Amino acid sequence: MQTSTLAQFSLAPAATELLTFEGARVARSAFSAKYRTFSVRGPLIENLFMPGVGEIAQRRQGDGATVDLAGFMVFPGLINAHDHLDFSLFPRLGQGPYPSWREWAADIHRSEESRIAECLRVPRETRLWWGGIRNLLCGVTTVSHHNPYLEQVFRAGFPVQVPDEFGWVHSLAEIHKVVERFAQTPLESPFILHLAEGTDQASQQEFDVLGHLVPVNERLVLVHCVGLTAQQWESAANSGTGIVWCPSSNLYTLGSTLSAERVRNLPNVALGTDSPLTVSGDLLDEIRFVHEELGVPAPFVYDLATSKAARLLRLRQGEGDLQTGSKADLIVARDKQLTPAEALVQMSWRDIELVMEGGRVVLLSASLAEHIPAELTDDMESIFVDGVERLIRAPVDKLLRQACLSFEGAPSISGRRLTLTKTNRSPDGRHQPSSDGTAIAARDDCFSLSGHKLAK
Ligand SMILES: [Zn+2]
Repeated sequence: MQTSTLAQFSLAPAATELLTFEGARVARSAFSAKYRTFSVRGPLIENLFMPGVGEIAQRRQGDGATVDLAGFMVFPGLINAHDHLDFSLFPRLGQGPYPSWREWAADIHRSEESRIAECLRVPRETRLWWGGIRNLLCGVTTVSHHNPYLEQVFRAGFPVQVPDEFGWVHSLAEIHKVVERFAQTPLESPFILHLAEGTDQASQQEFDVLGHLVPVNERLVLVHCVGLTAQQWESAANSGTGIVWCPSSNLYTLGSTLSAERVRNLPNVALGTDSPLTVSGDLLDEIRFVHEELGVPAPFVYDLATSKAARLLRLRQGEGDLQTGSKADLIVARDKQLTPAEALVQMSWRDIELVMEGGRVVLLSASLAEHIPAELTDDMESIFVDGVERLIRAPVDKLLRQACLSFEGAPSISGRRLTLTKTNRSPDGRHQPSSDGTAIAARDDCFSLSGHKLAK
């Protein structure tokens, strides 16, 4: 495994001691949250029980710390079923609607050359980290990244889980790779590609073309599918094919997306943000949007971002569900005495006060930081997002300096301004060496415009 210049910053392990949380309502489903005590050891929820029941056995072990979460609700960590983490620092580009993603890509490479070049000057590893942070801030603990998997980044202290057990191609633009890549994908893993991202005739034909190349079944995960015909939808639904819905991105580029009724009738479907190239917010913004503007019922939206996403991506460690033995991926927000689904569809990134991924505390609000044992927050750094402080498990100072080398002023993600201090000042990264004297990621790992076309 190659050495990462950034990952060494956040190698803090999962808690090995027992960490017990009490006093909160814990979401058990979209409809139900109960007062529960739960303990985390290593990467897993070791025990989740009614207060008083099981407590004696728990205490007898006599180790670990207890965190009082009275007044809070605990949810499963959210799952973003589609993103391109290395495009995290881009603004939305293009003036749609376009007939398909191909015209969108051609247009932005023609008209936005300088803005693309500005973003690509930031080293790819740094952009991947900001993509992780963009998801972390809104409570995402697992994100499906659709671009090459860099294990030296994602497996070394990255703040969110990025699954690697899947096969993929970009789209049928890489049709010559589909059969070989599919054959190389383990039988139990999904195979993911963009499909029918357009309303034109070529997009309509893609589902049938794909069906001649690989079996159409529940292992296939198709992102977008705006161009499918009624007959193709029937075939996709009957076969259990996975569909990733990215409504804001579709509406921005194509002026059209799947209807709420269509999505609700799919057996295997999840929600994705896509990258900031085509979407202005984060997964919580997308969740609010599909509920309030597109009329998807709150419980269905809750499942799209938790259990349905875990099933579609074939995650195997209990992601998307809080129970004894599950991976300790969870988020904490103030309890507004709503059902979990009602609370989720009203939530914004500002409401997320604690995120735990695989037993690691990876995000804390300033007020909840006081509740957490200090040894669990080692190596976390402070960042201000639109003036709101968060403590996150990432080399913030170094990442901001690297981003500032390319941008005038403070960089932003999801339209939110990132600074090291509340009052504004972007870190003055220009012409300064990195603070600890280590080399920042090499510039030569940037994509070159001539060698790599953006394809979302
Ligand atoms: Zn995409």
